[in-house]
Amino acid sequence: MDLQHWLGRAEDAIQQWADGFGPYERHPSLLVDDDRFAAAFEEFTGRLTDNYPFFHPHYAGQMLKPPHPAAVIGYLTAMLINPNNHALDGGPATARMEREAVAQLAAMFGYDTHLGHLTTSGTIANLEALFVARELHPGRGIAYSADAHYTHGRMCRVLGMEGYAVPADDRGRLDLDALEDLLRSDRVGTVVLTAGTTGLGAVDPVHEALPLKERYGVRLHVDAAYGGFFTLLAGAEGPEGLAPEPWRAIARCDSVVVDPHKHGLQPYGCGAVLFRDPEVGRFYLHDSPYTYFTSTELHLGEISLECSRAGASAAALWLTFQLLPPTPDGLGRVLGAGRRAALRWSELISASDALELYQEPELDIVTYFPAVEPAALTSVDAASARVLADGMADPEPVYLSTLKADREAFTARHPKVTADADGARVLRSVLMKPESEHHVARLHDRVERLTRAQPA
Ligand SMILES: *Cc1c(COP(=O)(O)O)cnc(C)c1O
Repeated sequence: MDLQHWLGRAEDAIQQWADGFGPYERHPSLLVDDDRFAAAFEEFTGRLTDNYPFFHPHYAGQMLKPPHPAAVIGYLTAMLINPNNHALDGGPATARMEREAVAQLAAMFGYDTHLGHLTTSGTIANLEALFVARELHPGRGIAYSADAHYTHGRMCRVLGMEGYAVPADDRGRLDLDALEDLLRSDRVGTVVLTAGTTGLGAVDPVHEALPLKERYGVRLHVDAAYGGFFTLLAGAEGPEGLAPEPWRAIARCDSVVVDPHKHGLQPYGCGAVLFRDPEVGRFYLHDSPYTYFTSTELHLGEISLECSRAGASAAALWLTFQLLPPTPDGLGRVLGAGRRAALRWSELISASDALELYQEPELDIVTYFPAVEPAALTSVDAASARVLADGMADPEPVYLSTLKADREAFTARHPKVTADADGARVLRSVLMKPESEHHVARLHDRVERLTRAQPA
């Protein structure tokens, strides 16, 4: 896709639409001449160079990559109109696009009924799910794994609910026995299961948690902000295929959150929350004097905690899904490549005497650390930090990230490492670009070389 061409077409298309409303004069207060703009633009683009190359396969650090060109064109084209998906009157076209894209997400998870909408982020999407949880179980708290996203604890405080962190097992998954001990106390109304933790990409045993719904009368919410699109690899053939059970079980949970701005090729500002029971819409009822009601169709603003939201976000997602739908043959191929990259790299690390795998990757996140002698948390921590810094400073840079593993988590996986500190940083690479598949051998060589180099 030639961005220049399609950006030109975008402007033409919107101008043609605008021309249908007749000519008018722009107010002089808004006029900016090209020379002044050129100067500002030069400074602006200069400043933007202070960035990491998220697009490049040698960037193998955090969860960052540019959106797909289809999303960029979709966003910018709709932004020329700037619809507000708060209400149908704020932009009927993008409101419908949102409903269609959300229905595709619901179908991806196997929801036979749903009520859902886009949000500006996974954090807000989870907040909505926890808000509904509170309305349905007033006075009861929320349980989530110790490895769950940190915002669950924060949002419990926002909502005035008790949050309970349940220990994770030695693969970073919520420990169901510990959860059941807690549920017996009757203090919990909703359990958050994470399908793809942010740190390790660990998938909580959603299928094994299903019976808890009946047994303890709890709601189950799945935080699949990061991992949700991996459901497209559930039961897939080939090395990238995932054990289907936890993914299929999402369809039987009460709500799920997924971030199209993580693995859905979207720019930031695109999360989504889905409820299986459309009846929960009643908790959102409001009576705003600003809201316009020109139609009996459901307003997205009626089922959202947020008011204004970019219609452009829905446009970008809708247009992307026309080309790369959330199906195994569409987006599934993109995720499969990253997953194969993670598996390949973990094999190379296992075979290396310079590096050690922190744990087997479940999705596309690889965690590893320099095999230092003598093996102790302080030396692992120092070596990881050094490789991270040296990688970025190298003339041929490689970008990684670090993850803080606490003492218990580390020694559960590596009992021979001396626990001489509270924890240690390990190296972490999120291989969320399909291009990574063809670059892991080179990435591995670089990181091995950095690890072997003597500290300066
Ligand atoms: C990223 C993430 C979040 C938070 O989502 P934002 O879009 O960054 O607000 C919540 N949960 C999990 C599992 C995540 O990976």
